[in-house]
Amino acid sequence: MAAADRLPHANLLLSAPGTGGLPAALAIANLLLCENRQGEGGDTACGSCRACRKTKGYVHPDFHFAFPTVGSKMTSDPFLPQWREALQERPYLEANDWLQRIGAENKQGNITREACANIIKKLNLKIFEGRYKIMLIWLPEYLGNEGNRLLKMIEEPPENTVFFLVAERSELILNTILSRCQLTKLSPPTDEEIVAGLGQVGIDPAAAAAAARLADGNFNVARALADGDSVNHGERFLAWMRVCFQGSAAKLTDWTDDFAKLGRENQKHFLRYALHFWREFLLLSVTDNAAGRVRLPENELASARKMLPLVSHEQLADISEILSECMEHVERNANPRILFLDAGIRLHQIFRQPRPAVGTGSA
Ligand SMILES: [Zn+2]
Repeated sequence: MAAADRLPHANLLLSAPGTGGLPAALAIANLLLCENRQGEGGDTACGSCRACRKTKGYVHPDFHFAFPTVGSKMTSDPFLPQWREALQERPYLEANDWLQRIGAENKQGNITREACANIIKKLNLKIFEGRYKIMLIWLPEYLGNEGNRLLKMIEEPPENTVFFLVAERSELILNTILSRCQLTKLSPPTDEEIVAGLGQVGIDPAAAAAAARLADGNFNVARALADGDSVNHGERFLAWMRVCFQGSAAKLTDWTDDFAKLGRENQKHFLRYALHFWREFLLLSVTDNAAGRVRLPENELASARKMLPLVSHEQLADISEILSECMEHVERNANPRILFLDAGIRLHQIFRQPRPAVGTGSA
């Protein structure tokens, strides 16, 4: 539709966090503004014309942005330098990362009344260079009731104006806005697509595959996992579980000391892996992997099989709870030595509880 210049003027792109909504809106906007479209039916931006160069740097005068910020009466404009930087680094940006980046700490982000006035003001400007004037509102969920201020503009915008509303959760958007937009739902990338995407940024296939398995279709998370140490988490996790089973205090301490050196982000990734492992373990215990749906590499799958008689579904629930708690504490900057030593001891106690194992009807 964009290539044929027949895109509706109000578009809502809905996609889960870290998936394709924002990159898709940026790509379509780029195509609309390109002065020298290529390909069949002109469906590809040239990437090198004046407009494309400006779009690439997010400085095209006809391409406007609004996004959540912090502070009352704040508009998006003062945050544009950080916004451009964020898009260059991580086009699959997520709300949390963005709010951290602009120093929101624990403050709630929002798109204020003043930001809405700014959107209207910008769209009332004449077109500077291209055929279109584009307004990309990232996360319209944050508009709240202020969104009512935009209704008229979304319904009857000035000529050649295109809105992209890029959202994660449609239930948080005013119905009055939803009803005025053309909705497009984007499905998350498959594991294969994530591996291919990570390959394009130079990540080796083994690390990319390990990251894709854990990312649940979130490319942003996959990228962070692949940049970290995710390929080693499987081995590290199995070593930890062995130590927890045995319950040797010295070995638990050694493992924890080593682990504490990893750094917070990698510790979070590790916990993500651990929760993933136990989820897959549960699936294995129920299906025996008859349909081949258990997403663990061979070595870890073999270890999971050996553990089947040792861990019951009740124990599994307790284990998951401990790991989820760990995740919360890591996010709050807890001391990793204390946190993971304590978790190791609690896991040991759980493993030692005499309970019927999975596969003996305990579910
Ligand atoms: Zn171009």
